[in-house]
Parts: sequence; structure tokens; C-alpha cells
Amino acid sequence: MLPAITNQTATRQLKVGGFVPFTTTDYPGKLAAVVFIQGCPWQCAYCHNPHLQPRTEGSPTPWHEVLAILKRRKGLLDAVVFSGGEPTIDPALEDAIKQVRALGFQVGLHTGGAYPRRLAEILPLIDWIGLDVKAPFADYERVTGIAGSGEQALTCTEVVIKSGIAHEFRTTVHPDLISDESLLQLAQTLSAMGVQNYALQIFRKEGCDSDALAAVSGNYPPKALVTKIAGMFARFTLRDA
Ligand code: SF4
Repeated sequence: MLPAITNQTATRQLKVGGFVPFTTTDYPGKLAAVVFIQGCPWQCAYCHNPHLQPRTEGSPTPWHEVLAILKRRKGLLDAVVFSGGEPTIDPALEDAIKQVRALGFQVGLHTGGAYPRRLAEILPLIDWIGLDVKAPFADYERVTGIAGSGEQALTCTEVVIKSGIAHEFRTTVHPDLISDESLLQLAQTLSAMGVQNYALQIFRKEGCDSDALAAVSGNYPPKALVTKIAGMFARFTLRDA
């Protein structure tokens, strides 16, 4: 079960676990800063930011300090990306997005889709979204370790497609977590739902706590499968580094 968003958890302080002042890779075509929000209800074995999964009492980096840096970077950056962890876990996210927009920045969001209601609420404030889709929705628990996570992700996928927002759906590929057949099935599902832009990201061991996942080597997925999947989408990217 996901931790519910309740009044008790609804502190208004954004919990910032990390900040990258400049990147060219986290928002396609934009110069951006990335704010990493603390907290994630899921436990993916391949997580690159496991230190961001728990939420601490206070914010490791005060949000007002991040805002001060962003103010100084007006005119130098196009956008601010909220990432994590799972940024939609934070009840202060909407206010933070509004503050960033007021500075004139575009806003990107990286999410796994754990909180559909909050995602639907903030989506009108977002210019671009990168949504991780981890497996066929019925198989999510195998990757996230959390029962019911697939239903949340499915609802978020539907919400994003219906909104028409610029997007990239992406799937991290590791042979122990998603078979070739499941990957094909997932791509077919996303294509049929209306996903226009899809990326496969080959698992990288950097930052991952799982020795078992890191020990697996080899070329995956097969080239023929990648070609088949690429043909299902208007835009497709294979990231293998
Ligand atoms: S959803 Fe993302 S942040 Fe959360 S555990 Fe999985 S990979 Fe890590």
C-alpha cells in the first residue's frame, strides 16, 4: 500500500534532497536546473537515488536557498525540472511550481506516477513530463515491490495522455525485471493508448544498490525487438549509456 497523503503529512515545506543548477539532459532541448524531491513510496531495485526514498524531518536543502539561486539564474536557464524520489509525494510541490513559473521558467516533471490525483492537479502547471513506465501494469509489483502500484501508474498514464502535454514515457530495461515479451507487450499497450514519444533506457549500475542487478551483463534487449518497438511510436529513443 502507498503511504496516503494526509493532513498529517501535509507539511508545506518542500523537502529538497538535491539540486543540480545546470543540465542539458533532463528536459529535452532546454537548459534546466533540477530539483530532487525527497521521498518515494516504491522500492525499485534499480533505483539510482535510493538515498532519496525516505523523507527526513526537515529539508536537507532549504527551498528558499534553491529559489534564491534560481532567481540569480533568470535569463541563463529555460526551465526547472522537479525530479526525485517521487516529486508528487510532496504536498508543497504545487506552490513550488507556481513560484518557479512566476520567475519565468518553464517547468518539467519526472515522475513514476505513484499519486494520480496530485498529478492531475498539478499537470496544468507543467510544460513537459517524463513518466517512467516500469512494466506491463499488471506486473508492476515485480519492479516496485509494492502491491497496487500498477493501477496508480496506469491512471497516471491515462491522465497524461488525455491532457495532451508534451511527454516522454520511458522504461528502464533489465532482463531480470522485464522480459522481452513483457517489453513488447508494454510497448504495444502504450502505443495503443496514444503515447507519442517513448524511450528505452538500458539499466546502468551507477548509483544502484543491487549487486545482483549489477552482475548481469550482455546485450539486451535484442536489436530486432528494439526496431519493432521503435516503429510503434512517432518518436523513439534508445539510451544505452
Ligand atoms: S519510483 Fe523512481 S525514485 Fe522511486 S524507487 Fe523507483 S526508481 Fe527510485
